[in-house]
Amino acid sequence: MVNNCANSRCGKPLHYLREGRIFIFDVSAGPSEPGAKRLRHLEHYWLCGGCSETMTMEQDDRAVIRVIPKLARILEPGEVAPVAASMRAF
Ligand SMILES: [Zn+2]
Repeated sequence: MVNNCANSRCGKPLHYLREGRIFIFDVSAGPSEPGAKRLRHLEHYWLCGGCSETMTMEQDDRAVIRVIPKLARILEPGEVAPVAASMRAF
């Protein structure tokens, strides 16, 4: 259950699901013992409205989930810069 904004510097309590953004990560991947059962496990995170405007969440290649600034995202070749893309959405 998500109770607070995933941004540790914010920590705003979750009251309205319609505000902000929910992130769901599959954390079942990763090192597992040979022969061990791999259980599917999903983690839910929430960024409040203010934080989700400037931040997003990602799971890196070591399955570490972190809050990152939107602008830190690596652009694909030919992709529109995130600032321009988000301005178009409004
Ligand atoms: Zn927040």
